[in-house]
Amino acid sequence: MSQVIVIGSGVGSLASALRLRAKGHHVKVFEAGAEVGGKLGVHKSGGYRWDTGPSLFTMPHFVDELFQLFNENPRGHFNYQKQKVVCNYFWEDGTRFSSNASIEKFCSEAADTFGEPKEKIAKYLAKSALKYDLTASLFLEKSLHKLGTYTSAKAFKSVLQAGKLDISKNLNEVNEESFANPKLVQFFNRFATYNGSSPYKTPGIMSMIPTLEMQFGTFYPKGGMRTIVESLWKLGERNGIEFFFNEKATSIDYENNTICGVTTNKQGYSAEIVVSGIDAFYTYTSLLPKLKAPKKTLEQEKSSSAIIFYWGVKKAFPELDLHNIFFGANYKAEFDSIFETKTLPKDPTVYVNISSKADKDDAPEGSENWFVMINVPTNNGQNWGELVQKAKEAVLSKLSRNLGEDISKLIEKESVLDPVKIELNTSSHQGSLYGSASNNKFSAFLRHPNFSNQIKGLYFCGGSVHPGGGIPLCLKSGQIVADLIADA
Ligand SMILES: Cc1cc2nc3c(=O)[nH]c(=O)nc-3n(C[C@H](O)[C@H](O)[C@H](O)COP(=O)(O)OP(=O)(O)OC[C@H]3O[C@@H](n4cnc5c(N)ncnc54)[C@H](O)[C@@H]3O)c2cc1C
Repeated sequence: MSQVIVIGSGVGSLASALRLRAKGHHVKVFEAGAEVGGKLGVHKSGGYRWDTGPSLFTMPHFVDELFQLFNENPRGHFNYQKQKVVCNYFWEDGTRFSSNASIEKFCSEAADTFGEPKEKIAKYLAKSALKYDLTASLFLEKSLHKLGTYTSAKAFKSVLQAGKLDISKNLNEVNEESFANPKLVQFFNRFATYNGSSPYKTPGIMSMIPTLEMQFGTFYPKGGMRTIVESLWKLGERNGIEFFFNEKATSIDYENNTICGVTTNKQGYSAEIVVSGIDAFYTYTSLLPKLKAPKKTLEQEKSSSAIIFYWGVKKAFPELDLHNIFFGANYKAEFDSIFETKTLPKDPTVYVNISSKADKDDAPEGSENWFVMINVPTNNGQNWGELVQKAKEAVLSKLSRNLGEDISKLIEKESVLDPVKIELNTSSHQGSLYGSASNNKFSAFLRHPNFSNQIKGLYFCGGSVHPGGGIPLCLKSGQIVADLIADA
């Protein structure tokens, strides 16, 4: 069995490390920061607790699988509950819609709210599920850069049905063809943001994303999102993975195009296999400066970034749920700002996550812990101090208008995250949330592969490489890496 070094302790790195350990390898994980988990951070102040990164948890069985690899019952260590209401939506004209987790109820209630035939909505969701079934095993579970992926029976089935995947239209076109009510179009367009893309550019195949939420459900981990990475870290420690915190990898070492180890800010370590779980851009620029970097891959358009306000709000709002969306009036203009002019949207869509709705301990009694996020461009040198101030004004005015209350008067705690801090904290190039955007039909193929074709023994996982960003896909990247190593 080999000596393996995994760089970073984000969710992709943890999945890779655990899967390789389960196969019997000796695994060391080096994390530059003091804490495990990368983007799945936590912040506490004045009796409030906030998860600082992801808030929407789908496909929890991908986490469970990692416990099962070691014959451990996940329920002894990591628990979650299925949400009955997926998300509450608000429009400025007073329209409100609560997205129900039951597909049957969702279709009836959406038909009533948006005046669309129920059958049309059900048909859209069935097509969404078909797209997922046809492509998931091909795009999410295997390397797209190995011939074997394309010679399976499943790949053949997908190719035969390619016409049903809506690859040549964008998501907005698919949704406008499907529905007459612009609000329902906007509702389904929002799923492009689940991987930081624009609905006006991402291919129509992305209409499969609602399946994750509606077929498989949305979940809340008991104790917060942070427990995902904390429980995986402890699972690793119980099973012999060595973790090194505050130890930053400074170079990936190789001889004769073959991995020989990693040097950190403390010392050198030898290894036959290195898995980089940090952003591919930084892997090349910081850790492999002499290697020819795959320029075209690294220059792919990045996914959106975000400004997030973590607010302690000294009042409870019964009309809000765990997830809440306050839509901007001009969605096209919003995405043009994010991806074309790279400025702050004038009327941004505001997402409010309140984990104290699910876990009372996250806020003092009678108060709520608001995670208030808007999508913004990646960092291209904009004046973020100014933009954060403008964003705060826009967000406060939108929330106060919609909720009929001056929210600014209720904020007793505040901290802020912006693209510069996201990059600083996690080395995510330009502060992108999900690595490369899926803003064209070739994006999936242009992501960095999970292996190096220059250095034997070098592999890649995490949100900046195949199959992409978001917790479920990062977990899948760990599986793909472990499978590639087993097959090597
Ligand atoms: C604000 C926000 C909201 C999000 N919302 C969601 C959501 O709701 N649902 C969802 O599924 N996803 C969401 N995402 C995306 C999701 O968080 C990421 O795709 C995923 O967590 C990325 O994991 P990763 O494995 O790429 O590692 P990362 O989380 O990027 O971690 C990389 C780690 O590597 C470490 N590191 C960097 N350089 C070095 C070095 N040289 N040596 C050692 N260690 C190093 C860093 O310190 C960091 O800990 C969100 C992301 C953000 C930022």
